Amino acid sequence: MLNSQPGNASIDPWREKYIAQGEAFDQQIQSLEDYTQLLQRALVRISLAADGQDSELDKSLENLRRLLRKAKPSIADISGNLATIENTLLRLDNDTSTASDAGLNALNQLISQLLEMDLSRDNKKALKAIAKALKKQGDNLKAYPQLLNEYARVQQRAINESLQQLQAKAGVTGDKEGGKQNQGILSKLFSSNQGGSERGKTETTIADTAVETAPVADNQIENNISPPTAATVEPGIKEQASIQKVDEPENEKDEKHPVHHASKSMVDFQYLCESLAGLVERLSIPETEKPAVEALRNRIDAELNSDEVVGVIEELAQLIIMAVDKGQQDFEQFLQTLDKQLLEINAFLSESYSAENERRNAAGQFDQDMRSQVNSFSDEVMQATDLNLLKNSVKKHLDLISVSMDQWVDAEKQHESQANEQVAALKEQLSLLENETSAIKARLRKERINALTDILTGVPNREAMDERLSFEWKRFQRYGHPLVLAVLDIDYFKQVNDEYGHLVGDKVLKDVSKTVQKLTRKTDFFARYGGEEFVIIMPETKLDGAVLAMNKIREEIENLTFSYLKKDKNITVSFGLVAFRKGVSLETLFDLADKALYQAKIHGRNRVEVAK
Ligand code: GH3
Ligand code: MG
Ligand code: MG
Repeated sequence: MLNSQPGNASIDPWREKYIAQGEAFDQQIQSLEDYTQLLQRALVRISLAADGQDSELDKSLENLRRLLRKAKPSIADISGNLATIENTLLRLDNDTSTASDAGLNALNQLISQLLEMDLSRDNKKALKAIAKALKKQGDNLKAYPQLLNEYARVQQRAINESLQQLQAKAGVTGDKEGGKQNQGILSKLFSSNQGGSERGKTETTIADTAVETAPVADNQIENNISPPTAATVEPGIKEQASIQKVDEPENEKDEKHPVHHASKSMVDFQYLCESLAGLVERLSIPETEKPAVEALRNRIDAELNSDEVVGVIEELAQLIIMAVDKGQQDFEQFLQTLDKQLLEINAFLSESYSAENERRNAAGQFDQDMRSQVNSFSDEVMQATDLNLLKNSVKKHLDLISVSMDQWVDAEKQHESQANEQVAALKEQLSLLENETSAIKARLRKERINALTDILTGVPNREAMDERLSFEWKRFQRYGHPLVLAVLDIDYFKQVNDEYGHLVGDKVLKDVSKTVQKLTRKTDFFARYGGEEFVIIMPETKLDGAVLAMNKIREEIENLTFSYLKKDKNITVSFGLVAFRKGVSLETLFDLADKALYQAKIHGRNRVEVAK
């Protein structure tokens, strides 16, 4: 610090000025230091506040704080660090704006989807207001939660309104038809349409519902979920009903009989009901429900009318839910019983362990008693001088020994009978467990067979085919015995369905598969792996032999007469064959067979082609 000193008057003003300047400079330096410290503290705080948004940013901020806490932070270090932070912030800003764009788009999409619905004026107005606010807020992310909240409220109101409308419609139908208000959701949904068909003119008719439902039935078929069982597809009234359609060209029928669609839809509904009934029969239905299933099956077989369809579908749905539920309950119960029985067996084992211990102790005790009796007896004998005394002593000891023996025998008997009882109880437990296990095993076996069998044709299904193919593939890789895979596809099968209906189509599938089954060897494997697609795996067969065999099947099918088809209607099939080759994957082999089948199709169908 500079101090003023007395001295020459001419230099005094300069000195004073210099001192004053020096002091001012000192103050400036001090305030700069204060200012820097303040800035450092502020930076540390800001950096703390910015923490937790992004891991990269967090690292840079931590680094910055470390630099700032140093006694003399280096300006170069700090500015390097600030540059990194700036880049991270730029990236974050970009991310935020992408997120806000995505949010904006999503919300706009939601709004326009909801606007497409039949909304009340109020809801439409509210939605438009939200859309406007959204446009105004642009990328202001903070505004989104509130806008989303408002949107959710409008959406909730719109859903409530639609539900009320639906219920109102169902209610009207219920009044008209008397007492249908208590029906389930399926009835409610369908009855609004049925109401329409009764009113006849502008509203959706049951036929329209059917047009929408038909693809579902097709889809089910294609997924092989629930084609009807054998009993349901015998030629009868239903088939005739569908066959009749062939007599008239499709468009003429529509013009002459505007209600024709309704009857077509009934055929589809009937098909759907039969598929569901097939599924129900496949599941494990509780005994008590079997009469209900049979009654339903009879109703379906006797042909349903439009009023019955909804009720039947609903009952079937309930039965399916119940069967699935029952299966689960049964299994849970089995596990519980198993658990209980294992606990009991465990208790028995620990009981017998402690009984065995007791027995061992008792035997030890008995041994000790006997020894001490014998010892004291022999002492007394050695010391005896008088025969009478000796006699008495012998008698006393023999009595004592005999009491001990009796006690031991009694205890042994008791142990034995206890052990016998326990063994009997254990045997009973085990036989119970065995019965239950074999019941479950039988059920699992049945379910496994079911799971591997195609319901409609009764031949193995796709899962079974996959299993067998992978087994045969492994065997082939190991032993290399000749093996041929054939894929078979019915030609123009869609036409059969279109002309005669699905039920007749199903019958064709069954008849074709019966014929193939009849003509294949016992060692061959035949499966249905898709709608009208089958495979035949021929072990120990060379390609030329397989071609001959498949041609035989092809000719037999071509010459089959189907009583339920028109006289001149032939069904033909095409084949694609591949011989297994070492080192070629199953997928590739299947693909090769499929390609050969494709060749058979493009070369005119009703042919056997071999993979190149
Ligand atoms: P392509 O000669 O080329 O094989 O012609 P396609 O008509 O046989 O072949 P496409 O694949 O066009 O049609 C197959 C049809 O088989 C379509 C589907 O509705 C029908 N289908 C599939 N599964 C079943 C079923 O389980 N039952 C009935 N009835 N039809 C089925
Ligand atoms: Mg096909
Ligand atoms: Mg086909």
